[in-house]
Amino acid sequence: MPLSPEFRDGVRIKATWSRHLLKGARDVEALVARGLVLPEDALALTRVAERYEVLVSDYYLSLIDRDDPACPIRKQAIPDKAELDERPFELKDPIGDAAHTVAGILVHRYPDRALLFPTFRCPMFCRYCFRKVALNDEPPRLREALPEVLRYLNDHPEIEEIILSGGDPLMLADDLLDELLTQLRSVPSIRRLRLHTRFPVTLPMRVDGALAAMLARHRPLYLVTHFNHPKEVTTEARTAVKLLVDAGVTVLNQSVLLAEVNDDAVVLASLNTQLLDVQVRPYYLHHPDLTVGTSHFRVSLSRGLQIVRALRGRLTGLAWPTYVLDIPGGLGKVPVDSDFVQRGLEPGHWFLRSPLTGAVVEYREPPDPRSK
Ligand SMILES: *Cc1c(COP(=O)(O)O)cnc(C)c1O
Repeated sequence: MPLSPEFRDGVRIKATWSRHLLKGARDVEALVARGLVLPEDALALTRVAERYEVLVSDYYLSLIDRDDPACPIRKQAIPDKAELDERPFELKDPIGDAAHTVAGILVHRYPDRALLFPTFRCPMFCRYCFRKVALNDEPPRLREALPEVLRYLNDHPEIEEIILSGGDPLMLADDLLDELLTQLRSVPSIRRLRLHTRFPVTLPMRVDGALAAMLARHRPLYLVTHFNHPKEVTTEARTAVKLLVDAGVTVLNQSVLLAEVNDDAVVLASLNTQLLDVQVRPYYLHHPDLTVGTSHFRVSLSRGLQIVRALRGRLTGLAWPTYVLDIPGGLGKVPVDSDFVQRGLEPGHWFLRSPLTGAVVEYREPPDPRSK
């Protein structure tokens, strides 16, 4: 994979969309200058930013309702002092990525599919991110690691699907991404590709006809985007999605259930039906992981179940994401509304059955201030 000085973090600096990215808010001062953070909060939030980087595009910032202190867009993008709260049960690597990694960039946990991190950069650092610690660590070295990854894939023909995640794979310039997808496709056992990206939501200008056509050449390719709230389904986002769909790329969505962002049946119903309007099929609703510095986003399993059950019978099955929980320690994802997840003896106590090993593990939730 050739990389020349005009690239930074794999991004071609000249591209129009990367100029959007460079113009975005990259620190707390920039948020103060835009009137989105009060000057008296700047010092505390700078301490947050030293631990967990700040980056938001001007486009995404423009969606914030300045008159609403509880704006769901604000909450996802603007750092919060609560990120410095660390609770004893919280984890730096909540789903156990590190233990399964090949060459630092491939996570092979499920037999038939593997995650590949081409980058740890993103168009925006979401404040609730479950990889918020990893993203601020050593970046993956795609060029150095790729030969070992390709060898591993050739030695493990049971892997049929590669999921590019990270980091956001669309941070790569089109030609680098094309080259990477071509190399992955050249492994005989790889039957399909998947891309997990938040660009259509946080910087939809990234998606143009050329990108859509290139991705479509690698079909079957599934693009899973990440809308959390109906306010994110803007004209720009709809345009980005339409370019992809019209080019022949299948687009799905995953959301994360987040306190005071979308922990509400009406909000989720509106989000998922608006996605269907633009031919995006809801795939997963993730229960929030026990990630350090994300306590202000946490929702309890009982509340999550209450919310998704309130939708049953009211919404078309097409608008139904599967509500999933990733069992800490790399034991796999399970549907919450199933016998993989059983109530324990007291509130906040659960038993989870791993779909990978069959092991039943205890899961204890922190107290939920909202379900008193
Ligand atoms: C979530 C995840 C996947 C994808 O799982 P699906 O259920 O197929 O969406 C694959 N590998 C790892 C390591 C994951 O965490």
